Amino acid sequence: RTVYLNGQFIAENDAKISIFDRGFMFADGIYEVTAVLGGKLVDAEPHLARLRRSLAELALVLPLDDDALLAVHRQLIARNALCEGLVYMQVSRGAADRDFLYPPADTPLTVALFTQDKAVLDSPLAKRGMNIIGLPDMRWGRSDIKTTQLLYACMTKEQAKARGADDAWLVKDGWVTEGTSNNAFIITRDGAVVTRELSRALLPGITRGALLALVQEHGLQLDERAFTLEEVKNAAEAFVTSSTSFIYPVVTLNGQPIGDGTPGPLTQRLRRLYIDHALAGSV
Ligand code: PLP
Repeated sequence: RTVYLNGQFIAENDAKISIFDRGFMFADGIYEVTAVLGGKLVDAEPHLARLRRSLAELALVLPLDDDALLAVHRQLIARNALCEGLVYMQVSRGAADRDFLYPPADTPLTVALFTQDKAVLDSPLAKRGMNIIGLPDMRWGRSDIKTTQLLYACMTKEQAKARGADDAWLVKDGWVTEGTSNNAFIITRDGAVVTRELSRALLPGITRGALLALVQEHGLQLDERAFTLEEVKNAAEAFVTSSTSFIYPVVTLNGQPIGDGTPGPLTQRLRRLYIDHALAGSV
């Protein structure tokens, strides 16, 4: 496959970066992931807006405007003949002598993009639903920034796998924050769609945002508030949202069924609504 590295499209085996890269040393960087359907980017605009926000929060100055970034995404999709999958964009503060202090402002950032083929529409987990476990959220206090500091997500996903589950929902002070790589939703027995309000404790998911707009458009009841694992256990349905899954039903928590333990009807309706939105809104 072809990747993009610092202005060039090259074979992935030829793409090399310094051992002094601050992404490697300190996870000093951010990333963005955008889904691709029919060779087009899904919700490109809010993904670029979030990328800008992540860069600004870390005082990273990227010398590429949105049009240039979109062009790089599209060229990579074309060169890899990507029809359905993902484009990852990684940005680090670049290579410099090891020092916590940021290097001089003229130090070039490291910018890399790569694609992944993935059957997003026809995924087995979309049909079967996910089994999740609850685990403590021990991440840092700025989970709203999409940084490359993902070790705790790796550790918790490993723990979930070791316990025979697909993923974990993270809990802080008794309240669910989000999944390891997705936003967490429940549907109450009276039909309200519930997801935690945005704060520094969770990532402002692009799929979450698009889905909330659809929920309101279709006159469904929406409750943006935190919830507990106890409420998940007693919910009618549960699901996650992310660019890599769109919407996956969640069918068990800690081995106990949620609702009747199969993908819920409203969850499946929301997945279809989201996919229609994604197909219509891709560019
Ligand atoms: N929460 C976390 C921690 C994530 O890593 C992700 C990204 O995949 C999400 C939520 C979902 O965000 P998005 O819908 O923008 O992919």
